[in-house]
Amino acid sequence: MTGIAIYPGTFDPVTRGHIDICERALKMFDHVVIGVADSLAKEPFFNIDERLDMLETVFADNDAISVRPFSGLLIDFARDNSADVIVRGLRAISDFEYEVQLAGMNRSLAPEIETVFLTAAQRYAFVSSSLVREIARLDGDVSEFLHPEILRRLTAKLLACK
Ligand code: ADP
Repeated sequence: MTGIAIYPGTFDPVTRGHIDICERALKMFDHVVIGVADSLAKEPFFNIDERLDMLETVFADNDAISVRPFSGLLIDFARDNSADVIVRGLRAISDFEYEVQLAGMNRSLAPEIETVFLTAAQRYAFVSSSLVREIARLDGDVSEFLHPEILRRLTAKLLACK
């Protein structure tokens, strides 16, 4: 496969699980556009600018990855970026039901766009942004799951929120 894929998510914050999925996607696609959703309903811990900036920092040296915000329909974002593939990551069975539902809805809205599922390396199989935030908030060590700069920003923001 070649071409452009989009990898949408909240990235609150980006974890090594997300990074792993992006790197795997690049084995299949020439370019990956990371779509950072506003996700206002989820009340993200980091605002959209912070989340975009963290992703840009992590992937600064990789020209094959771009980072863009989006707030409308995922399929419109895919079309706007000339992507015909949506990449999503799968962890445990718990992700499966929602992800298949989402892929089904997107297919009925935009039959020309395919959804591809990838799994991260075993060591990141249980990593989620929300768990990482929660563990860090309780002073647990999450350095294994975050890029050092993201760890620094998370620690700083948690401290500022105390
Ligand atoms: P969303 O709010 O869309 O679920 P996330 O930032 O939580 O946004 O996740 C974006 C995508 O990355 C989702 O498809 C999610 O399943 C996937 N993902 C997140 N963490 C991991 C991980 N550790 N391994 C595999 N996939 C992951």
